[in-house]
Amino acid sequence: MRNTLIAGNWKMNGATSANDELVSGIIAGAPAAENVELLICPPFPYLAAMVAATAGSKVAVGAQNVSEHAGGAFTGEVAASMLVDLGCEYVIVGHSERRTLYGESSRDVAAKFASALDAGLRPILCVGETLEERQGEQTETVIDEQLDAVIDAVGIEAFGNAVIAYEPVWAIGTGMTATPEQAQEVHAHIRARLAGHDPVVAESLQILYGGSMKGENAAGLLAMTDIDGGLIGGASLKAADFLAIAEAAAQG
Ligand code: PEP
Repeated sequence: MRNTLIAGNWKMNGATSANDELVSGIIAGAPAAENVELLICPPFPYLAAMVAATAGSKVAVGAQNVSEHAGGAFTGEVAASMLVDLGCEYVIVGHSERRTLYGESSRDVAAKFASALDAGLRPILCVGETLEERQGEQTETVIDEQLDAVIDAVGIEAFGNAVIAYEPVWAIGTGMTATPEQAQEVHAHIRARLAGHDPVVAESLQILYGGSMKGENAAGLLAMTDIDGGLIGGASLKAADFLAIAEAAAQG
């Protein structure tokens, strides 16, 4: 049975005192259920403080991006080994904002995924289609290309230490959530595609849904067979909103 992972992507939000309040609220209200895992992904400058603040709690810390390089003359970049050094356990790679706003290709994302794994981080690989691609019935083609770039680069066994997040681009930050059935269809496709390479890895892999998940829609999404948690943007910035999703996971 797969655990449910509820992960908050804080994006470029936060400040020292607001973060302290948010993280202490999350720790105080975290559901005790052992099968529910919690993760926060703050911006780089706050990672060390959030690792310290979550010590001894069930809340893990991850980053939102990582360099594909191990170190050296790459001004402004952050190496995976540095994230491990700080106490991070996860890193998000291939978020649609990185792909769209910063031009990251699936090949770039695969290189970041590989560098995270090499350092001992668990990458959360984001995949998803735009509205235009969905309307053009290209959803599976787009997702297969995003997945295959990583499988080809690192091999299927690497997914034993990774997480996938299905994030339809049209649902991110828009308030438009995929229906549980729409999301389940894609999650099942992702699992089947990986199972084509290794059924054991595919069966144990956590596949999160991301895209305007909130307390009101979380239970329906998390009830689906192949949805193993959520990657949450907007609703991860208030403890009560994030905890409402965690609670839905604990009740499920
Ligand atoms: C995200 O950015 O990963 C995300 C899912 O955002 P939101 O929950 O705000 O749609």
